[in-house]
Amino acid sequence: MRVLVGGGSGFIGHELMKLLKVKGHEVTIISRQPGLGRITWTDLESVGLPVCDAVVNLAGENILNPLRRWNKSYRSDVFNSRLKTTKTITHSITSTQTPPHCWILITGLACYRANTETLYTEDSESTTFDLWSQLVKEWEEAGRLSENAAIHTKQVVIRSGVVLGRGGGAIKQMLTPFWLGLGGTLGSGNQPFPWIHVSDLAGIIAHSLDPAHIPASSQPQVFHGVAPALNTNREFTQELGHVLKRPTLLPVPELLLRATLGHERAAILTQGQRAVPKRTLESGFQFQYPDLTSALRQIITR
Ligand code: NDP
Repeated sequence: MRVLVGGGSGFIGHELMKLLKVKGHEVTIISRQPGLGRITWTDLESVGLPVCDAVVNLAGENILNPLRRWNKSYRSDVFNSRLKTTKTITHSITSTQTPPHCWILITGLACYRANTETLYTEDSESTTFDLWSQLVKEWEEAGRLSENAAIHTKQVVIRSGVVLGRGGGAIKQMLTPFWLGLGGTLGSGNQPFPWIHVSDLAGIIAHSLDPAHIPASSQPQVFHGVAPALNTNREFTQELGHVLKRPTLLPVPELLLRATLGHERAAILTQGQRAVPKRTLESGFQFQYPDLTSALRQIITR
């Protein structure tokens, strides 16, 4: 299969590229930078979609870049990098004479109100109530194909939890403070911590490429990219400390997170959704790392 991956040069993209190549697929990245095995977003806009069987979008400005101050310009980069790339892909799919059979967009769980009680499945209603839910709404709308285009191309949206892996994402930023014994819960620590191992997220994307796993529909098929285990931030913190053999006694107060990251970004860390991968499991996907212990051991000790 020929697969085009927007943002394939990043953390999740790296894992996905490895997996797709092992499975014998041919992969081309869409990037801001030209290079071998790549096309640029400008190429896609000007030349149109190259002949391919599937398209995935993973492009997006890093939301938790500790080196960038949270302000209007950063916020607009976070939105535009996701909405523009996604719109460019949907436009190119709609315009081509040779549409791919599958289009997969990775978004987040922020479309569900964070609380410690409600259990969200892929059937739960997504709503708009703050900046991040607005982002997910606009992102998924940008990815929606017209009814005509959806006849030829199955649409998949994978709403992902925090992606855990050695090469990037949350763990990369946490390892140094945890190694130094400075790790601790974020805010109250009671907030749900929906997470997934990066190999499993890549696996769900690869699983979705198989037409047999996606029913024909004019609507996008939503999957949750989260491990089946339901954990809180405290459980995650304790398990990471346990695997690293380091103490986790220093909680990071919410006020400090707000002061350093801005209150909107701090909310990503101090709040979370209890989400389960109901439809993902029903579609036949088998998790390699269904629980925190196996996931963190693989990441830390490999
Ligand atoms: P990365 O931060 O590794 O970035 C992915 C790629 O996006 C980069 O390699 C880059 O490709 C491209 N990119 C970065 N900034 C911009 C920009 N301003 N405009 C256009 N493209 C840009 O992301 P991840 O791999 O961690 O995540 C991939 C997607 O999954 C993102 O959309 C993210 O929001 C989503 N997601 C991630 C989660 C996580 O925990 N990591 C959780 C939930 C969702 P290049 O330089 O080649 O152009």
